[in-house]
Amino acid sequence: EAKSRGPNHYLAFEATMHEKVMVRAALEAKLRVAIQEKALRPFYQPLIDLRNGEVCGFEALARWTDKDGTSIPPTTFIAIAEETGLITALFEDLLDQACRDALNWPDHIRLSFNVSPVQMEDKLLTTRIFRVLAGSGLKAQRLEIEITENALIQDPAAAAAILAELHDAGVQIALDDFGTGYSSLAQLARYRFDKIKIDKSFIATYREDERQEKVVRAMLGLGHSLNIQTTAEGIEEHRQLSHLLQLGCDIGQGYLFGKPMPANEALIFLEQREKTAAVG
Ligand code: C2E
Ligand code: MG
Ligand code: MG
Ligand code: MG
Repeated sequence: EAKSRGPNHYLAFEATMHEKVMVRAALEAKLRVAIQEKALRPFYQPLIDLRNGEVCGFEALARWTDKDGTSIPPTTFIAIAEETGLITALFEDLLDQACRDALNWPDHIRLSFNVSPVQMEDKLLTTRIFRVLAGSGLKAQRLEIEITENALIQDPAAAAAILAELHDAGVQIALDDFGTGYSSLAQLARYRFDKIKIDKSFIATYREDERQEKVVRAMLGLGHSLNIQTTAEGIEEHRQLSHLLQLGCDIGQGYLFGKPMPANEALIFLEQREKTAAVG
């Protein structure tokens, strides 16, 4: 096929590759400056206790709007940060901002923060987390770390040590994107997670798909039998919520409750939820 398109096709391919490399290099340079200038912000998405409808936490999700007003998606810039080692500085800055924001929330509201798989190779990860907690004054009990299954496969012993150290200090551990990673069940057997977050890909389609529904039901059952709280990500519709309630899911997250929002809006969100809860 490539042959039939002739040599020009090959040149066109090279040009796009070159373009991609240039765009990527420019983005990396911009990210470096943005991190230095502390220009990235955590946004906060509410986590809802499904037993009573109350907010029980916020997940911090990184947001970056560059100087021309373009917002770059976190999946793009987190990947660059991971590849370049910028993730450590980015993590420390965002976690510090998030801990300080969380001090303005009621005590029972927890901050969830994503730790990327490459950070599990950082020997100083726990030291950094404890340092940021101490610097901001947020109690370890109010922090929850979200890791994906892929964070546990590179060096399982090192990962276990990190999780144990955090856990002993009172930090909660959630297994994020459950069901999409490598060897989910093996991870559940090995580590004591406080929470599993069922990936939104299961929630999006399971009502139309009987097999998918059975898988979600089994994941919730597994969580309960292991005494691990279950969170469903990506709840967008009432019928998804009512079904998850029926199945006994503990915590919900999704656009139905609220999108990720800046710190000041999260405070307003909390006030309004409290008012409606008090009314009925
Ligand atoms: P995640 O940790 O699984 O976060 C959940 C993602 O689902 C977020 O995407 C959130 O905005 C999105 N989401 C929440 N509710 C709904 C819904 O009802 N429908 C749909 N379609 N999507 C929903 P976001 O903010 O784009 O972040 C994507 C991923 O980037 C995160 O997935 C996480 O893996 C990573 N990420 C974001 N911020 C950070 C960070 O500060 N550090 C690290 N290491 N990773 C981060
Ligand atoms: Mg997460
Ligand atoms: Mg997730
Ligand atoms: Mg995800």
